[in-house]
Amino acid sequence: MSDRIEKSDDDWKKELTPDQYNVLRKKGTERAFTGEYWNNHDKGAYLCAACGLELFRSDTKFDSGTGWPSFTSPAVQESVKTLEDRGWFMTRTEVVCRRCDGHLGHVFNDGPAPTGLRYCINSVSLKFKKDEPAATSEKAAQGK
Ligand code: FE
Repeated sequence: MSDRIEKSDDDWKKELTPDQYNVLRKKGTERAFTGEYWNNHDKGAYLCAACGLELFRSDTKFDSGTGWPSFTSPAVQESVKTLEDRGWFMTRTEVVCRRCDGHLGHVFNDGPAPTGLRYCINSVSLKFKKDEPAATSEKAAQGK
């Protein structure tokens, strides 16, 4: 892919908030139930907070009870990459933005149907863009 976004650590540090930088570039994790989106039920798209790429959509979001936004799949498979994350006690699968390599969270295979996957994503790595209600569907809803 030719649209990759690569920036120096200094540039990321300048562009991102300290919380965003700590998660997106340093693979930190926000505390559960503290993020902006774990309880967001609005319809729309979740973009990468670092580069703006659309990563997830509200239609695959589910209430996981974990305190982090959770999805059964990315918006499109190509929007994220997965990497093996070998920690001290366990191997997890890390999820990063395909375009800027920003750390998003991890994916586990204890999710609900249809994929059985649970993309456990930090709110701070995301920027929510609410769907604009289309004029036509609004009229339809009003029976006009
Ligand atoms: Fe990104």
